Amino acid sequence: MAELAYTLDDLTCASCGTADSLWIYPVCALVECRECGTKAAMILDQADEFGGER
Ligand SMILES: [Zn+2]
Repeated sequence: MAELAYTLDDLTCASCGTADSLWIYPVCALVECRECGTKAAMILDQADEFGGER
């Protein structure tokens, strides 16, 4: 099985403004900022779109 988390290179954290700091956990439908620790739930359809871009 592949890694459970992926970096989101093109996104910037809305809370702290750090680029390339967001990780997505598709299994949990969760996005977390590694810089400030902000977590946000996301819609599964969006997770599918991210996966399709790779
Ligand atoms: Zn942040």
